[in-house]
Amino acid sequence: MKQLIKTDYMFKGDIEEGITQDKFILVENGTIREIIDNSGVIPEADEIIDARGLKVFPGFIDLHVHLSATAGSNLAQSIVEKNEYSALRALHYAKKSLNAGFTTLRDLGSNGYQIIALKEAIRDKWVKGPRILAAGRPLTETGGHGDSPFSNGRVIDGPVEATKAVREQIKAGADVIKIHVSGGGTSPHDNPLEPQLNKDEIDAIVKEAHSKFRKVAAHAQSNAGIRNAAASRVDTIEHALFLDDITCNVIRNNNLIIVPTMVSPIMTSLKGKDAGVPEWAIRKASEAVEPHSKSVKMAKKNGLKIGFGTDAGTPFNFHGNNGKEFEILVGSGDLTPLEAIYAATGIASEALGPSYKVGKILPGFNADMVFVEGDPIDDIVVLTKPSNIKRVLLGGIDVDIK
Ligand SMILES: [Zn+2]
Repeated sequence: MKQLIKTDYMFKGDIEEGITQDKFILVENGTIREIIDNSGVIPEADEIIDARGLKVFPGFIDLHVHLSATAGSNLAQSIVEKNEYSALRALHYAKKSLNAGFTTLRDLGSNGYQIIALKEAIRDKWVKGPRILAAGRPLTETGGHGDSPFSNGRVIDGPVEATKAVREQIKAGADVIKIHVSGGGTSPHDNPLEPQLNKDEIDAIVKEAHSKFRKVAAHAQSNAGIRNAAASRVDTIEHALFLDDITCNVIRNNNLIIVPTMVSPIMTSLKGKDAGVPEWAIRKASEAVEPHSKSVKMAKKNGLKIGFGTDAGTPFNFHGNNGKEFEILVGSGDLTPLEAIYAATGIASEALGPSYKVGKILPGFNADMVFVEGDPIDDIVVLTKPSNIKRVLLGGIDVDIK
């Protein structure tokens, strides 16, 4: 099955190259085969897709979601409900995100293995949904960010347990390992400014995960926690709230990617009070907004790679509204619109690693694409409105937008 997509405006996911015009994309059995100038010889195809007049981007990647979480105000919901139930609901959330243009989702932790099961059911074609990478249970120290009345992480103390916990996640089918190296916003008894897990524990996790070809994503808010994790060469620094220039250097020298998830504390601080989110969680979120903005600006100034993640599932941070992060990266993080889109395409692709052929419109990559009405380079807000997402291809096949 050959498809030919005609474009007059395309971003391939490469910021050096920028926007290209008047290209044809040849897709064969769901994989991009060739990019052709429209002045050259036009190959035969079974289907012609005319995308001229729309802006074509690689399918967006959200590097940080929690499909098991509802975005509601009841932080304990995921503890009291069955994992089997949240797995079924997660399929609904995954489809909403797909329809919004997010063809790949990286789920960074749930109370069990339900999102791994969802990923496998989609892979085996029992149900339709986006590409998913899933972490299983996050690794956290006793009393850490993932060990509270609101979170059932895999508790580890010491390098031996750390190694074993990585192996457990991989045995369950995890694609990526999630760890908590600092306090956080939704844990009542810790402080975002404190580091969690010792350096020898983080070292053990990274060694074991990398030996099994898994990336490590570290929830890291405090500067000390970020620095520990960066020095241990985790792969992505999630949240990256309290950066300074020295820590930026460690991150850059190790060629790591930060995933700020700026939308998450903003939504909790804006909407949490009326909805009954606990006071302490609103306070932590509110205290994060300003440092977050400073940190992302500092990261940009220091030349760090910035990836796109939303932490969707946290209070009022709804699955399917993932595009909101584009607007905030530009408005509060001082990224250009193209840099924000690059965060969700080329950079996010690099964060997943070379075995995942997503996030770029290049030969050999999956034909995951988003066709957008309006010009997000002129006005990034275009990407926050699902109605501007006119067509989404997942492996060359149309997804059900409505
Ligand atoms: Zn998260």
